[in-house]
Amino acid sequence: MTTLLLDVAKLCASYGRAQVLFDLSLQLHAGEVVALVGRNGAGKTTTLKAIMGLLSARAERLSFAGHSLLGVPTYRIARFGLGYVPEDRRIFTDLTIAENLEVGRRAGRPGHSPWNPERLFRLFPNLSEMKGRRGSQMSGGEQQMLSIARTLMGNPDAILLDEPSEGIAPVIVQMMAEAIRAMKAEGVAVLLSEQNWAFAAQISDRACVIERGETRFQGSMADFMADHALRAETLGV
Ligand code: ATP
Repeated sequence: MTTLLLDVAKLCASYGRAQVLFDLSLQLHAGEVVALVGRNGAGKTTTLKAIMGLLSARAERLSFAGHSLLGVPTYRIARFGLGYVPEDRRIFTDLTIAENLEVGRRAGRPGHSPWNPERLFRLFPNLSEMKGRRGSQMSGGEQQMLSIARTLMGNPDAILLDEPSEGIAPVIVQMMAEAIRAMKAEGVAVLLSEQNWAFAAQISDRACVIERGETRFQGSMADFMADHALRAETLGV
């Protein structure tokens, strides 16, 4: 049995009076990659923000590695071992790649070898070739990789990635897919929000399909891929 890390049951969240998530449920186990897929506006980003405590939410259960996350501030949630890479890639544009990585450094977890720039440069070889470059001189895809690498410097057990393939060149999307596979091989669990199902299908073990803020399907990626009617209905593909 794999360890349950992230346990979300009946999650509800609103912006002011507008409720966006309705009894959403999903699970992420140690070392697996789960894709949270759905159309534009389905509620993927909101789900990740609610998990990270960036939005007030209620739920029957919302926990990570046995810690309840309800009402817990974001910095403490990160210390439980949950990393978060938002869509807007918050890297420091005045700092170099190497300096950005140092900003993210936090003590390692017992029993795991800590991430360091050398290991991360093996995961993201293109960053290694431009260590001294400032964030402002990087493409969107390179910034996205740096944002992921910096989050890994905090030695998380799991990482939430918001649309990592969005708006980046196809060659970088492929590098991103390889990096996510390598992260999984290193034991980091990944919850990935994606509209790009073809990208998600390449790297995910399971899918959680969200439609208008509700869970429509949870199961293996292979089952989701085989269900053409569900895919057409929820993603239009
Ligand atoms: P996208 O791919 O566009 O990011 P998504 O699945 O991540 O889509 P969310 O960004 O979570 O969707 O948005 C879910 C719903 O919440 C949408 O109807 C959106 O308009 C609404 N919403 C998002 N952010 C806010 C906000 N700050 N205030 C009010 N409504 C919001």
